[in-house]
Order: sequence, then C-alpha cells, then structure tokens
Amino acid sequence: MPELPEAENIGRALKRAMCGRSICKVEVFSPMMRTSLLPLADAALEGKTIVDVRRRGRYLVAELDDTRGLLMHFGMSGVVRLEPASVPKRKHEHVFIHLSDGNIFRFECTRRFSLLELHPGCANGSFPAVLDKLGVEPLSEEFNGGVLFAAFRKRSSPVKTALMDNSIVVGIGNIYANETLFICRVAPTRKACDVTRSECDAIAGTAKKVLLRAIECGGTTISDFQNVDGSEGKFVQELQIYGKAGIPCPHCGTPVSSVRLGGRNSFFCPQCQK
Ligand SMILES: [Zn+2]
Repeated sequence: MPELPEAENIGRALKRAMCGRSICKVEVFSPMMRTSLLPLADAALEGKTIVDVRRRGRYLVAELDDTRGLLMHFGMSGVVRLEPASVPKRKHEHVFIHLSDGNIFRFECTRRFSLLELHPGCANGSFPAVLDKLGVEPLSEEFNGGVLFAAFRKRSSPVKTALMDNSIVVGIGNIYANETLFICRVAPTRKACDVTRSECDAIAGTAKKVLLRAIECGGTTISDFQNVDGSEGKFVQELQIYGKAGIPCPHCGTPVSSVRLGGRNSFFCPQCQK
C-alpha cells in the first residue's frame, strides 16, 4: 500500500514530468475507482496547464492554472505512469490524461480503492477542503513530541493505533509506525495515554527520520508498489521489525512477536519494547 514516502516519491516524479505541460485530452475507460471517474471527462480540462504537484499525507494534488486541482490517492494498489501513446493500454488502467509533451498520465488500479477527482480551491499551495480534517504533517515543524503528547493523553487506544490516526498526524502508515516504535523501544500495545512526554519526543523525532530515510530509498515495496518509472522502493532492505515475526530481534535475539492492532499487523520485540 503506498504510504507517505511512496506518495512523496510519486509526487516528486509527477512534478518533474507534468509541470508546465498542458492537458490535450482526457479518456475515461471505467466509470468507477473509489469514486466516479466520469466527471473528469466532462470537466473541460483540455488546454489547462499543470503548475504544481504537491503532497498532503498520502494524497497528491496536481494544481491546474485555473485554480482547480486533480486530487489523487493510491488506495491499496494504485500505480501512475507517464508513458507515450505507443505503449498499449493495460487492463486495469482506468483513465488517460494526454499531455502536451506527448506523454500520457495513466492511472492503474486493480482493486479500485484509488481516487482521482477534480476539486476547486487548489491555487497557490492550497489543498481542497476535503483534506481540512487531516492532522498535522509529520515532516513539518508543527509535528513534535508536544503535539503527540497532548493527543495521546486523551487516548486509551494502543499507542501504535494512535500514531496511525490521521486526525492526529497524517500519513505514518503501518510499516513506519512499527519501525518507529521499535527504534524508540515502546511496545505498540501500550496505551497511548501511558506514553511519557520524553517518549513522545523520541517517537516524533524518530518518525521523521524513518520517513525521510524511506523517501530517500524510494519508499518500501512490499507487494505491488511501483514508482512512476516502474522502480521498486528500496527501504524494504532496511526494515528492522516490520514483517519479521519469529525472526531474532536485531538487538537482543529474542524472536519478534506479532499482534493485530486496529486491524493491522504489528511487530515488536517483547524484550526491547516496553
Ligand atoms: Zn529485542
């Protein structure tokens, strides 16, 4: 599942490849992904120029020169590519946006949980109103141990579930929450309200480092994630705890445990993480 580092890499690649190009034609091949794709065909996008691509959590917005923006989310298995018309259409490519440089922005999604919608209100770095409810960006200065501590004090849910709650901090997905809590030696099962201020400082600082390193590595490919150029995320080689159930902990050798929390697989060392 594309998480924040994967979305960031897709966004950077789209920015390089799409900014300054205008839209020549939109072809919609399937009526639905998570929401209807049909409005895109009737939105008079022809002639509009893409002026920026930016990220908020796991969402991307491609801003057009008329203040509207294409909002994208990659769901479980969304893949975007920029390829010329000579590349045949794949079975699960649902929409083509033809660009003035001859490339086509293609959105593929086998499980149809992805989103591609047009929204107003995207001028000058703004994000559409539907994203207003999202919590703080983990890579921003506003995200720190104080913010986390204030939010955690009101929660009796497991700390890992709270760390993945998008209304607190947006985009720390399952892989990165597991890695962060392992590095900070905090058990994912602990109640959020029992996590100390100094532990919150460590969690916030570590989450930033883990996400930045994962971005540098091009994200993490577990099953089907691909960057825009088809490359896979290399952070998978640096995972210390995620997916390591039964394997010796890299610090103490105790077999790694796993548990379901908030419906997500959670991995931890019962010796190192308290
Ligand atoms: Zn250990």
